[in-house]
Amino acid sequence: MSDRRQFIVALGAATLLPDLKASTTRDPFTLGVASGSPRDTSVVLWTRLAPDPLNGGGMPAGRVEVEYRVYADESRQRLVQRGTVETSEHKAHSVHVLVRGLEPGREYWYQFRHGDALSPLGRTRTTDMKAGRARLALASCNSYESGRFAAYADMAKWAPDCVIHVGDYIYEGAAAALGVTRRRVGAGELSFESVRQHNGAETVTLWDYRNRYALYRSDAQLQAAHAASPWIVALDDHEIDNNWAGDVPQDPWAQTRLEFKVRKLAALQAYYEHMPIEQPPQLTGLDTHLQLYGAYRFGPAQVHLLDTRQYRSDQVCGQGFPGDESCEAFQDPRLTMLGTTQEQWLVETLRRSTARYNVLASQTWFAPFRYNAPPAAPRINMDQWDGYPLERQRMIELLASGVANPVVLSGDWHASAAMRIHRDPWNTRSPRVGHNLCGTSISSHCPWSGAMRDALQDNPHVDHLNGDRRGYLRCDVDSGGWRSEFRVVEDPRQADSAVRTELEIRLQDV
Ligand code: FE
Ligand code: CA
Repeated sequence: MSDRRQFIVALGAATLLPDLKASTTRDPFTLGVASGSPRDTSVVLWTRLAPDPLNGGGMPAGRVEVEYRVYADESRQRLVQRGTVETSEHKAHSVHVLVRGLEPGREYWYQFRHGDALSPLGRTRTTDMKAGRARLALASCNSYESGRFAAYADMAKWAPDCVIHVGDYIYEGAAAALGVTRRRVGAGELSFESVRQHNGAETVTLWDYRNRYALYRSDAQLQAAHAASPWIVALDDHEIDNNWAGDVPQDPWAQTRLEFKVRKLAALQAYYEHMPIEQPPQLTGLDTHLQLYGAYRFGPAQVHLLDTRQYRSDQVCGQGFPGDESCEAFQDPRLTMLGTTQEQWLVETLRRSTARYNVLASQTWFAPFRYNAPPAAPRINMDQWDGYPLERQRMIELLASGVANPVVLSGDWHASAAMRIHRDPWNTRSPRVGHNLCGTSISSHCPWSGAMRDALQDNPHVDHLNGDRRGYLRCDVDSGGWRSEFRVVEDPRQADSAVRTELEIRLQDV
């Protein structure tokens, strides 16, 4: 197995990623820079020293110093702050700096130095609750194998106030053959096309996950999107294992519970090492936890970034794909996506919010979607909010109880959608409570697009649906209201593909 992995890594470095040969010059900043968790006076800056990124990083063991500088202008004339931080092999020579004392609603530029090497220059921005406008991008599901990242290059050009990434930042699978392959999904087979290859086998160890993140982050267009805007991030399933929930992997027969706990620690540690977030994972006994959910205020919009993966109970009622029938277990009030602590936090934070728009950034779809016609019982996706109906109804009642203009933003399902959320989510004659907008995937395929199109007439709350295009969602919010553009990539196989607006919508106040 390890022979095969080394072969693939060597092949990748030699033939598929010629630009990484520059690593022999020992440039430590091969993975670019990033910023995140923006607040009114602070932001987290990130980089990682990795002269040999696909082979564990390539830094010698030991503590080293990295200098950072923050500027008020792009030409680096006005230095605002500078400092030195230490890092080591214990965090894969990643660097996380919480910069405080900044001014609200301002752009800053930042750069790292290690020895003689200077990193690329990054741009970031602090938040401002009094700002008149918010420009937010929603991203998810950037499978490295399925496509190039033209969508990220387009996002970098737009340079929004913040990028919200709701998960599937990496995929854990082994390298697939190039070209079109058919793979088992649920009971059926679906077609996938790979335009480039993963490094190695399915990720299990910390070494595997580090090299996988490094592969993704070696992409220049993804680096550009990180360097252009601060990001807020929460993981979904593929950062660890497809459709995992709490402590339960997708394939419990292939790994013991303890083995999965160790795998989860490795995956969350590597996620931390590659993301502009402040806190590393915390261990309680054998359980790993990474704090990701939180609220961020961008002028007229307050974004509540949710974590619907780490605290959820396991999916119930069957594994049929893309949908299955509900069962009695749905009536169990303990069935949860958010967990008690996060739900309580959300209730209190929404009640206190003074924003005109209240965004819930959720990994999976919130509004319902059925894959069959009534009057039969709906066939639904158990991994989405449809699989947790009692908790969703509690959330809907909460949103209906005086929360201004709820907008749920979702990823996960590789299709763009604009849906109305109704008080009774299956009944469009019941009052409208809010909207659910779904960005499509940056690059991941949607082979179930046809099944969704066939079911469109049975889902009258869905105003727009397209699983055939890759891209992302732009949200531009000001005193005139909420405007969103569905950006789509002409040809996801081409890095220099054109990216255009497929549809522009405005939301009615609710
Ligand atoms: Fe995905
Ligand atoms: Ca997912």
